[in-house]
Amino acid sequence: MPSVHINTNFNSSRLQFVLDFIQKQFTNLQIRIKDSAFSSNIEGIIIQYGGIPSGSHYYISYQGLNEIENMDPIADYEKMEFPILFKSEDDLGFDIFSAIFWMLSFQFERKLNSRHKDQHGRISCIHHPFYKKRQYKLPIIEYWIDLFIKQLQERNQLVFHRKIHGEISLGIDIDQAWKYKYKSGIRSLGGLMGSIIKLKYNELIERIEVLCNIRKDPFDTYQYLNQFDLSRNQLIYFVLNGNNPKLDPNHSFSHPKFRQLIQWLSTNHPIGLHPSYHTIEEPDRLKDQKEMLEEIITIPLTKSRQHYLRILIPDTLSALEELGIRDDYSISFFDDTGFRAGTCHAFYYYDLSNERSTNLIIHPVIAMDRTYLQYLKYSSAQVLHDIGKLLSEVRLMNGEAHIIWHNSSFDFKAEWKTFDGLFEKLIQWIKN
Ligand SMILES: [Zn+2]
Repeated sequence: MPSVHINTNFNSSRLQFVLDFIQKQFTNLQIRIKDSAFSSNIEGIIIQYGGIPSGSHYYISYQGLNEIENMDPIADYEKMEFPILFKSEDDLGFDIFSAIFWMLSFQFERKLNSRHKDQHGRISCIHHPFYKKRQYKLPIIEYWIDLFIKQLQERNQLVFHRKIHGEISLGIDIDQAWKYKYKSGIRSLGGLMGSIIKLKYNELIERIEVLCNIRKDPFDTYQYLNQFDLSRNQLIYFVLNGNNPKLDPNHSFSHPKFRQLIQWLSTNHPIGLHPSYHTIEEPDRLKDQKEMLEEIITIPLTKSRQHYLRILIPDTLSALEELGIRDDYSISFFDDTGFRAGTCHAFYYYDLSNERSTNLIIHPVIAMDRTYLQYLKYSSAQVLHDIGKLLSEVRLMNGEAHIIWHNSSFDFKAEWKTFDGLFEKLIQWIKN
């Protein structure tokens, strides 16, 4: 296997983190850092990172990787056909190591404050560094890596092969297991009165028919989802702990029917935690919610996605990691689709305060049903066009992607009527 050696005085766990991320994408790429013991007689490709360029070595100018918190790079759209960060005058044209670390350690998000957030405390796509040309629709980091690898190949007559990943998964968020069924008498009565007061007679009739077992509950879509025969890891159910009728409207984990449903779902697919609305302000709630769900499925929970995609970086990620969560699926825009962290590969959450890579893996989430319906107001055809483009980028880079849907998004007689027939097409793409 051809070795690549980085000669640098800027060795750090940050640099190692970035190099690990790059080399994991290839089958035959091994990158080693050489610092004080560097010898110019070494076999393989030599990259000089920082310092004064010497001889014929490939040179990348150091632009601040180890002081990234103080950096505020501006995306440059002029130099290449895709935006870059940390532009420099060297062989590559920018400091790729600082640029990747800046993205994967969520630097742009850490610099935003409550003025930049919506009423749910979420960050809009308009604050993304590549918003200007919506180039967060591309996995920019993989474009950077491909350029870097191409140059190394050309200079050294070598070929590096991308690993085959291409895993596409679907996450069903269960925010409300049933629309009408198995609710307390007070909630059912409140709903009934609401339908009457708001003159929603169709809803009223539907409610009565469901409660009289004449019609299936519109959110009871579990058998329907099961029929697609997705493999175990192609579908994950994220189950919300219901403790707030308005924001966390799920049924109680103590309800026997709900427990039965979760147990049945867990036989074919992983169950993930779906931490409730206020867990970002009160992370202590995470532990209780995890334990309550684990008590039902009787195995440890390792996957999680924040309800409403509400997340505080780094606090929520640190709290999840501490709790033993290994896979998070919360990093996604609420108001657009794309690659929020700039990549279509999973990466470890980097804990800046302790200067270490953690065991928590952040998975790239590229799209969500509600984003299309409520924020983008797309037709079915537009949704498929958008998801198709995003998935072709993922497959081009042999990456992975996760798409969020809800058990309640098949209510075609109500707000989801324009999406009738869409999901079956999406499933075909996920399976192929
Ligand atoms: Zn949710």
